[in-house]
Amino acid sequence: MKNKLIIAGPCSAETEKQVLKTAELLAATGKVNMLRAGIWKPRTRPGSFEGVGEIGLKWLIDAGKAVNLPVITEVANRDHVKLALDAGFKNFWIGARTTVNPFAVQEIADSLEGKEIDLLLIKNPINPDLQLWIGAIERFQAAGIKNIGVIHRGFSAFKTNKYRNEPLWEIPLNLKQQFPDIKLICDPSHICGRRDILEEVSQKAMDLEYDGLMIETHPKPDEAWSDAQQQITPEVLNVMLEHIVMRQKTWENPETNEHLELLRNQLQVLDHQVFEILGKRMEIAEKIGALKKQNNITILQSEKWKLVKEERFQFGINKGLTEKFLTRYLDALHQESIRHQTKVMN
Ligand code: PEP
Ligand code: MN
Repeated sequence: MKNKLIIAGPCSAETEKQVLKTAELLAATGKVNMLRAGIWKPRTRPGSFEGVGEIGLKWLIDAGKAVNLPVITEVANRDHVKLALDAGFKNFWIGARTTVNPFAVQEIADSLEGKEIDLLLIKNPINPDLQLWIGAIERFQAAGIKNIGVIHRGFSAFKTNKYRNEPLWEIPLNLKQQFPDIKLICDPSHICGRRDILEEVSQKAMDLEYDGLMIETHPKPDEAWSDAQQQITPEVLNVMLEHIVMRQKTWENPETNEHLELLRNQLQVLDHQVFEILGKRMEIAEKIGALKKQNNITILQSEKWKLVKEERFQFGINKGLTEKFLTRYLDALHQESIRHQTKVMN
């Protein structure tokens, strides 16, 4: 995991002993470059553990000094920033429930302006809104903060699935395209919400060339005061990081390179064919549009489309395409056909 930023530590600082113990075990792995712990916890419902507060800042600073690792914590308002700066923090992250709120983000940006900051990491907002995430980056940039990174922690989903927060990988990758110099860190803990799929999500992040991982670890995960189900011990983290394969971007082996190039060329030929066929499909849609116009028939015939869609769907499934892809593809195809028909009819 050379060149990757590995941030680990408990979801929440609970006691001085727990923070130090976690730090020692993590440092012993030799694989962790930064210690995390939440001091103020933004909880969905009141009554859950809301963090130890100010007293925990010193625990984390001291633990970092003891094992010679930098430390990072979450700040959600100007009081947090002031207290953390006074305690000696130089690394901060902005939580998902804060990124959604431009007033809060602006307040934090204003209170960090002009301070000595090594790293500021902005978590994605809980809702899948890339613009809101970008807006937060811009607010901190405008406050003169140089070393900004982002943390992908997944997005709240309406439908239940195997994740606590759906990854929606295309959103962080889109952000990375727009801000190529910004460090992109994956937080598999909050994406997964469970231990058994942490490794596959971490591997995927590495395959997508993320710059690092933030993973919640606790000496006794089952007894953690927050996010118990997703935390792992530093020992398990060590094994997990051993397992992760760092795939090379460019292959040393020229034969592999050539083979890959060949396969990519084949993909290009097929993609071009698909577009040619789609072009022809739209020509036919326009002919249908012309016929409908002559005979005064409406464009949209929902019942008819439902039957067509079912038939195409089944055909696609039999070809090994996924339900998710087919649903999106068929809807897009239908919309594009309607656009072509409308063009002819108006
Ligand atoms: C956390 O990192 O413990 C946390 C509160 O995360 P998020 O803001 O992603 O929910
Ligand atoms: Mn947590």
